[in-house]
Amino acid sequence: MIFGPRPEIKTRSELAAMAEAGAIVCQMLDAVSQAVEVGISTAELDAIAERTCRQAGAKPNFKGYYGFPATICTSINDEIVHGIPTSQRFLADGDVLSVDCGCSIAGTRGRRWHGDSARTFLVGNVRPEVRQLSDITREAMWAGIAALAGARDVGVVGAAVEDVVACNPINGAPLDIVTEYVGHGIGTAMHQVPDVPNYRVAGRQPKIKDGMALCVEPMLTLGQAENRTLDDEWTVVTTDGSPAAHWEHAVAIIDGTVRVLTAADGGAAELAKRGITIAELA
Ligand code: MG
Ligand code: MG
Repeated sequence: MIFGPRPEIKTRSELAAMAEAGAIVCQMLDAVSQAVEVGISTAELDAIAERTCRQAGAKPNFKGYYGFPATICTSINDEIVHGIPTSQRFLADGDVLSVDCGCSIAGTRGRRWHGDSARTFLVGNVRPEVRQLSDITREAMWAGIAALAGARDVGVVGAAVEDVVACNPINGAPLDIVTEYVGHGIGTAMHQVPDVPNYRVAGRQPKIKDGMALCVEPMLTLGQAENRTLDDEWTVVTTDGSPAAHWEHAVAIIDGTVRVLTAADGGAAELAKRGITIAELA
């Protein structure tokens, strides 16, 4: 890409407002996490997330987005992303559930600041390779976030994800990377430029600049990543029926390093393990 829309550059106080939205997304996912158990419906999880969101004074930003009907996406087993919560679907022992969640809060001049984050949950006793699938996807996300510290362009994320995948085969086979869905800029809208692919891309990539905010969100599959969208026009499933995992955080670029906007500690603990000191917002 040579020409195109410019990424939205945020001031420090705008990033602080985004961190407030991010903290609410974190609370929503914490509340869902507390409720995940065998027998609960995905609609009940959705209601918990929406209540947490509204009690915090925020709005669910997924609801109504291109007509999406819920506050969270709940994607179970072979569902990769964009699963729709329903009172007919109950979590079962051994399920892997990814929950994608977002909200927006009011800012100055009529703008709204957005947060977006996803976690994968293991329900009851899951197969060891499914646990590894989630762990490796989470590791790929943190490696991608860490790679953004001091990076020249967004291409570092895909390289980091690919490296984690290559170094962590399960039963001799590497996980597969979903390529149709990618990370993105975030700010006064949930989805902004630039795209943040989870795979290596040849050629020039969008530059990293202070004041950018980016979502890093690898989606990995235990089998082939080839996928299709169900008749509900939302739920994306693997063609071979293999399970998928999805982890996501929104990350600010500040002073040449990073701060995770959707983690309670700004990502300090996970990034310290990777030799990175997070940026301060104050
Ligand atoms: Mg998301
Ligand atoms: Mg996202």
